[in-house]
Formats: sequence, C-alpha cells, structure tokens
Amino acid sequence: MEQFEKLGLCEHVLKVISNKKFEKPSEIQEKTIPLILEGKDVIAGSATGSGKTLAFGAGMIKNVVKGNGVQGLILTPTRELAEQVACALEEFAYYKELTVAAIYGGVGMGPQIKKLAYADIVVATPGRLLDHMQNNNITLAKVDYLVLDEADRMWDMGFKDDVGRIVKNCPKDKQTLLFSATISHDLAGFADMYMKAPVEISVESYVDTSKLKQIYYDVRDNEKFGLMVHLLKGEGTKLAMVFCNTRRNADFVAKNLINNGVHARAIHGGMDQSKRIRVLKEFADGKMNIIVCTDVAARGLDITGVTHVYNYDLPKDHRDYIHRIGRTARAGESGMAVNILASRDYDNFSNIQRHNEGLVVKRENTPRFPRVAVKFDEPRASKYGGVHGRASRGRGRNIGGRRPEDRKGDSRGREQRGERNKRSKDGFRGGGRNVRQKSRR
Ligand code: AMP
Repeated sequence: MEQFEKLGLCEHVLKVISNKKFEKPSEIQEKTIPLILEGKDVIAGSATGSGKTLAFGAGMIKNVVKGNGVQGLILTPTRELAEQVACALEEFAYYKELTVAAIYGGVGMGPQIKKLAYADIVVATPGRLLDHMQNNNITLAKVDYLVLDEADRMWDMGFKDDVGRIVKNCPKDKQTLLFSATISHDLAGFADMYMKAPVEISVESYVDTSKLKQIYYDVRDNEKFGLMVHLLKGEGTKLAMVFCNTRRNADFVAKNLINNGVHARAIHGGMDQSKRIRVLKEFADGKMNIIVCTDVAARGLDITGVTHVYNYDLPKDHRDYIHRIGRTARAGESGMAVNILASRDYDNFSNIQRHNEGLVVKRENTPRFPRVAVKFDEPRASKYGGVHGRASRGRGRNIGGRRPEDRKGDSRGREQRGERNKRSKDGFRGGGRNVRQKSRR
C-alpha cells in the first residue's frame, strides 16, 4: 500500500486498492500516475492486463467533481472495451460515487441519454458519441481529461477522423492521455497536433518472458487440426484460448473440437451478445475450459488463469501475436504459447519474428497423433481473404484429404465491420470463476 500512497493517489482510490488487495503498482501505473497527477499529457505503451485503467483513471477520479457535468472522457475502439473500462472506473470511483456511462452503438439511445444527463465520466466508442453530440445529448465543454485508449486500434479501425472531430469539441486546456501498444507515424502526427508537450512512457514488455514458454510445431495443413486436438487432450491444458483469424474458422474449430470430445466454445464478433454471455457463463461455471476466439472478440474478455494460448492461425498483424500471448503468463503464473504452423502461416510467422526481435519461439518435434474426424466444413478462402482450407463435403469425413494451397489473411475488416454495425444489447464481463462479467448497467 505504501507504494500506492507514494504515487499521490486520492484516499477514495486507495481504499478500493486496499479492498482489492493489490500489492504494488504495475509498471505502467508506477511510471504514469505521478505524471498524470502533475497534469502532464502522456503517451504510454499499453497492453491488456497492464493495469492501464487505474493509471489513466487516477487523475480524473481524484479531481472530477460529482454532478458537475462530463469532466472525463475515454474513447475506446470497441464496445467490449468501453464496457470493461467503464465497469473498472466505476469500481475505482466507488467511494467518490462518480457516475460513469458506457456509450456505444448497436443499442438504444434512450437509456444512454438518461445516463448522460448525470454522468461525470463517459467511456465511449467514437461513432456513437458523435451521434449523441449531434443530437445535443452531451456537451464536451467541461471535459478536463481526455483518454484515447488502444489508440492504435482506433486508427486501425478507421476512427481517426471521428476522434479528430471529438477532440475539437473538447476544451483546449484539457489533459490528454494516449494509451497505445504502438505509435505509428500517423498517431504521432495526431499527438503533435492535439497534445501539449506529451511525455512518452514505454513499459518494458507486455509479457514476462521468464514465465512464458513459446513453441511451434511445423505440420502439413491437413494435420493442423488433428495435432491441436491431441495437444488439447494432453496433460497440462487447464484453461486455454485458441486463436483463429476469422469468425468462420473459430466456428469450424470449436465445432470440431466438441465433435472430438474437447469441451470448447467459440466467441467472436458475429455472435449476438446473449449467446456470448451464455458461453461465458458456461465457462464461468466450469462446463468448458477452452475458448476459441478471434482477436477482436478476445479483446473484450478479461480472463485470468489462462495456462495455454494456441495459435491455430498465426495472425497477420504482428501486434496481435503479442496481444495473444499476453493472455497467459500473467500475475506471476507461468504459461505456454503454442503455434501450430502450416505453410499458410509461414509468411505471418516470419512477419511476427521480424517485428519482434528477441522473441524466442522454440521448434518442437511433432508428436505422433491419431487422425481425427471433422464433421463440419472448414471454410473456403473467400473474397475477403483470411479463410482457408477446402470445404470437405459431407459429414464425418477425416481430415487428411488433398487440399489446395491455402490462402492467408486476417479477419480484421469483417470483425470490425461487425463491431460497428452489429452491436447488441448488453456489454458483458464474465463472472464466477475466471471471467469478469458486467454487473451493473
Ligand atoms: P487493466 O489493464 O486496467 O484492464 O487491468 C487488468 C487487471 O489488473 C484488472 O483486473 C485490474 O483490476 C488488475 N490490476 C490493476 N492494477 C493492479 C495492480 N497494481 N495489482 C494487481 N492487479 C491490478
């Protein structure tokens, strides 16, 4: 606690930290909170699970006055992140009784308008916030704190202009905090334009490499699935996240895992919210221990205790690899990242290694494993790119047939279109065992 006190946090937040039994500040908290409390603009490296929400929330929770209009604004790329950040801030601001509103598209405007009427802090995705601004449901005239969370993602998702319009509607003398895994040239240009002498903070690394073992297997395309079944059934996988590049692949993998006696479920942006909540509940209840997901869907999940991350597809974007492996080996626990490589992954794997110098991924000899049945069609390459494999006709066919050279790609475009166009009624945050689940709202 002493270390938190030294950072200058207010009593309200210290009380929550004590309740939560946090032992010491995370690296990002230690490096940014004193600067933020001094009123400096800050550009900080951030990653899922780094403790960034408390870092950027510290200043606003200390200084925001309850009932005085929207004074803190956090922009996030996805609805899930908006929900997660809003819930976390609400917790940290519990003793100060601040009202935090989560604002995102795909749900009715009405309840959000009501909440905005007395919100002190707003966590929003850019598109829906602009809708509210156009309808005069919110004024940003009193914003003292502006946070761009996962700014690189917002840029990747095409929110740059929307963010620019929002920033222009905030007062000039506000404090701006930019959290991003990487700072592209474009993002740096934005920072130059809108931030005041920002201090740049980088954190050592996203993952504790001494606790994380990274391995890869090199197999034929038609052996991928069989090997994964074999590994998942093997000893040691207590809680696993299996990553695929597309929604269709996630569905394919999850269905076939179930068919092969592995308790798995898919989670991706194409599923409606009630279905996602059902899956998370099953997971929280211990009915299954393997989640098959896409990158965008995984970003909204705060799952602890992941022992293994499997890359069924290697991501095209090297940053996604770091995000993925960062889901395990957290909080002092050890973890394993397993890459199942076939020819279609070679380019992506080289790209990941090129961009992440010092990454040690050890090759493992492929064990002998039995052939497995595949009951559902593996998706065919589509014009969107990223879906691979030849659809097998008929049910119950063995993987092992001849297959054309697979195509590579990623699902970013479609996942993101899903995020913007198909928002469902509730956000979610796990509950019970390993998932944090949305409780209020
Ligand atoms: P975040 O990166 O803000 O999403 O935080 C990830 C998780 O770490 C959340 O469950 C936080 O409550 C938790 N957390 C934040 N700061 C600390 C800390 N100093 N010690 C332990 N856990 C923390």
